[in-house]
Amino acid sequence: MSQVVIVFDFDETIIDCDSDVWIANDLGGAALFNDLLKCMPWNAAAIRMMEELHAQGRSLDEMERSLKTIPLSPHTITAIKSAHALGYDLRILSDANTFFIETVLKHYGIMDCFTEIYTNPSCVDEERKLIISPYHDFTVSSHGCSLCPPNLCKGNVIERIRDAPSNKERTRFIYIGDGKGDYCPSLKLRTEDIVMPRKDYPLWRLIHGNVHAIEAEIHGWTNAFELEQLLLQQLSIEPDSSLVDSDDTQKLISPNNNTTGMATFQFLVSRV
Ligand SMILES: [Mg+2]
Ligand SMILES: [Zn+2]
Repeated sequence: MSQVVIVFDFDETIIDCDSDVWIANDLGGAALFNDLLKCMPWNAAAIRMMEELHAQGRSLDEMERSLKTIPLSPHTITAIKSAHALGYDLRILSDANTFFIETVLKHYGIMDCFTEIYTNPSCVDEERKLIISPYHDFTVSSHGCSLCPPNLCKGNVIERIRDAPSNKERTRFIYIGDGKGDYCPSLKLRTEDIVMPRKDYPLWRLIHGNVHAIEAEIHGWTNAFELEQLLLQQLSIEPDSSLVDSDDTQKLISPNNNTTGMATFQFLVSRV
């Protein structure tokens, strides 16, 4: 017997954008974020940007409101809800942070579909500022993986899930991601596993640079519609047509109808 664990990356996988970039663009931190990225790793730059936004008077409530305007495709929602309804174990493994991910998932009512979220932890301090910490405290020790950023080795997490003492059954993974950080966990997958890289994104390019390095079955996807079709195919069920119009591959749910939401909608449509 084996137990299937479906692991989703968050940025550019569950959502069709990067949540750090979204906040930077929306709250006036884009130029600073770009500058920071030139001299430090992504997670460190995101932490600094958040501190700077707070210093400029941006509140946690503003960040929360902004996160709730991130569109989520109905195809992604259907894929997640269907897999959960079938009893699959869904988890998130992301280099974003707890606050961003939970805000979006709760907003769309899919938080309960996930058994675990592995990401950089965040908390709110007494001044209601968001404090983000690295998932792996590299000031104490290194995770020892040269492929991954110092704060998170996703491959490490995959190995821990596989080796967890509570896993009496053999774990099979379906791993869905897009980024460079998803390559290390892809290398840890075995022949019984599946990796679903987003086509023409860094993970896809790394995998296709040397497909022989990957033991898992490889299935690429381009947009949320394909992600839904592909995942449900692997789970051998048809997409639930009552939940979403499957013909409308470009449709995205936008949580509000204000001008910001519409601008986002147009941007995302041009991307997929
Ligand atoms: Mg990603
Ligand atoms: Zn790694």
